[in-house]
Amino acid sequence: MARFFKIAAAVMAGMIVIALVIVAFLLQGPPIPDHSDYQLDLATLRKLGDQPPGAKPEHLNAAAIAEAYPRAALFLGGIRFDRHHVVFPSYQVLYPDGSMIIVDAPPGAAFWSARMGGQFNAANFEAEQQALEQARAIVITHEHADHLGGIAQSSGLSSFAGHLMLTREQRDDDKSRKANKFPEDVRSGLHPLDYDHYYPLAPGVVLIKAPGHTPGSQIVYVHLANGAEYLLIGDVAWDMEQVSTPKCRPRLAEMGMGENGKQVTSELRTLHDLAAANPDVHIVVSHDAKQLADYEQAGLIGSHFDGLAAKASP
Ligand SMILES: [Zn+2]
Repeated sequence: MARFFKIAAAVMAGMIVIALVIVAFLLQGPPIPDHSDYQLDLATLRKLGDQPPGAKPEHLNAAAIAEAYPRAALFLGGIRFDRHHVVFPSYQVLYPDGSMIIVDAPPGAAFWSARMGGQFNAANFEAEQQALEQARAIVITHEHADHLGGIAQSSGLSSFAGHLMLTREQRDDDKSRKANKFPEDVRSGLHPLDYDHYYPLAPGVVLIKAPGHTPGSQIVYVHLANGAEYLLIGDVAWDMEQVSTPKCRPRLAEMGMGENGKQVTSELRTLHDLAAANPDVHIVVSHDAKQLADYEQAGLIGSHFDGLAAKASP
């Protein structure tokens, strides 16, 4: 009998060790390659940003639509039990003539109460919705609901759909169509944006394809009139430490989202090397709450939208 218990204990211990190894593996990201073919050439971006005629933008502003505290293990990786502060912003690129480009539009209150128990900022959401109506162009970093939901589910969608510039991948991605509840008549009527790798959108603003996190992921380069440069990288990383280390988000998260880890790790290598060689280029990671607070503190990103027209009285 004693022998049986010894064997049972050994089997149990073995299973626990195997389970721990699997958990540790899933909570780690895939390795980052030493070299990457992913192209992100600053000289080209500057040149393309200079191409469209007109004055460069003067301000980059962010409106935090929601904040949340998901489990750090799922977000950053590693076996840990703390929570991590994340933010969900919409960005406003503001031109001297008052015109604006909006990048990303997180959805309204109902989305956040159903997920992560996020704190919703009603005033910033109101500003986002107003800005969508005024924007000369609306783009998204990718087609996930926390970036596109404020557009797809907006009551004003039909009035600003003419300025919505989704790439073909973003418009046609099946998973995103369902998750975003995009009204099919509007979605199918949108003219998609087709480009190879770089697309000069407006003075000082260039789009760069970055598929991997989703098929339609892209990076937005912003060059302000004062010379400041930004790369809005969306969710290529979830936290700046994933660029600066570099390391990828955990496999468990990648599997849950159906992400292409090979593409994302290549992009992280290129972004890491670019950031190391060009510390003055401000990489902006969508959900990094601390990074956004630091940029706001330094005066590099405004903490609310500006230049919104007063609302017409009903
Ligand atoms: Zn996101």
